[in-house]
Amino acid sequence: VDVERAVPSQARRDDRRHILHSWSSHAKLEPTVVVGAQGVHFVDEEGRRWLDFSSQLVNVNVGHQHPRLVEAIRAQADKLCTIAPYHANEATSEAARLIAEVAPDGLDRVFFTNGGAEAVENAIRMARLHTGRHKILTAYRSYHGATAGAIAASGDPRRWPSEPGAPGIARFWGPYPYRSSFHAANEREECERALAHLADTIMVEGPKTIAAILIESVVGANGVLVPPDGYLRGVRELCDAHGIVMIADEVMVGFGRCGEWFAVDHWNVVPDLITFAKGVNSGYVPLGGVIMNEAISATFAERAYPGGLTYAGHPLACAAAVACIGIYRDEDLVTHARRLGKEVIAPALLAMLERHPSVGDVRGLGAFWAIELVRDTTTREPMVPFNAAGADNAPMIEFANACKQYGLWPFVASNRLHLAPPLVIDEATLRDGLAIIDEALSVADRHCSS
Ligand code: PLP
Repeated sequence: VDVERAVPSQARRDDRRHILHSWSSHAKLEPTVVVGAQGVHFVDEEGRRWLDFSSQLVNVNVGHQHPRLVEAIRAQADKLCTIAPYHANEATSEAARLIAEVAPDGLDRVFFTNGGAEAVENAIRMARLHTGRHKILTAYRSYHGATAGAIAASGDPRRWPSEPGAPGIARFWGPYPYRSSFHAANEREECERALAHLADTIMVEGPKTIAAILIESVVGANGVLVPPDGYLRGVRELCDAHGIVMIADEVMVGFGRCGEWFAVDHWNVVPDLITFAKGVNSGYVPLGGVIMNEAISATFAERAYPGGLTYAGHPLACAAAVACIGIYRDEDLVTHARRLGKEVIAPALLAMLERHPSVGDVRGLGAFWAIELVRDTTTREPMVPFNAAGADNAPMIEFANACKQYGLWPFVASNRLHLAPPLVIDEATLRDGLAIIDEALSVADRHCSS
């Protein structure tokens, strides 16, 4: 990392004076000034090297500054930096073809956006126009983005300040075996009861009023909730029975994160629409989009789709996607993620579950996991209350600081640690990171009642 080139103190001064960061109050935030990054590490202005255990916001799947990806952007910049989305160009066309190749069978056409929230907005619009219906069913404990429609469709507390949100959103509970809303005793019961609840919700909302069920294939920011086997298939069947569009939001979990190209591939479920962003090009240049099936594609064959963005299918972003998908393939990163999950992460987390009174549950798939921290493993009282802030949240801050003390950059949400290292991480570095977490959990253990 070329620390020399950075002007950190100026960067900090300008930041403090001129930037309002996402989800933050500017008078309180003290951001870490990052001056460089390489592979699974990034470096701050004080020269500290951090092990990036969250791939930033679960997007830097191929690691930082991957030479092939950087070179692809540079080469595209030399050739064609930008062009209006009504033109065709090599980078955008190839990106769409590669995305269709790795997407589930039958999903062959791509609508490009600049990120995940816009992908969700457009998927909702497509579903409404395709069905002629208005209502969208979404889950509590979901996050779909921060634009008006996407935040209204989200089920997490970040939507509260934007309420009353948008008309036509109805919510249901998805499966969450550790804290079952259905009093289920096992995964099979959880699956059956969650599906029965969804069927009831559809019935009382009115099947003919529902355009789409919008669902994260594996719930991301709200807890890495892996659905029990059979759940997504059941959702697919309910959609088929009522002519409802199934939208799988794979913004966080698509492109290898869960050890398959798309998380739905674990269960061989084919949605009508998939929203993607982040991992499509590891976030090196903003890109997102919607992949659609033949039926929805046909709706817009003769009839113009009423939506578009100046930078849709941006050549630099799409060249990055072409290179990134090439890297996933050539470095076999999807298989690597699956193997690391099964052989390294799962056993390590299960050992932590045994050893630490603060660990209530561990769950995940591929390179996407969560540790849920509790005060008491019998009562399952969360380490901090739901949506905790200030003093209430102190134990989780303390735990995060313990991770940082050993050089690991953690992703802490509510009473959980999310683990989402870059998919390129090697086994030894992954084990080092897991050992840091194991050590830091001793700090959390002190808050346990037993
Ligand atoms: N959908 C899901 C499942 C996400 O996890 C996110 C972001 O974390 C979004 C949508 C929004 O994506 P973006 O922040 O790129 O707008």
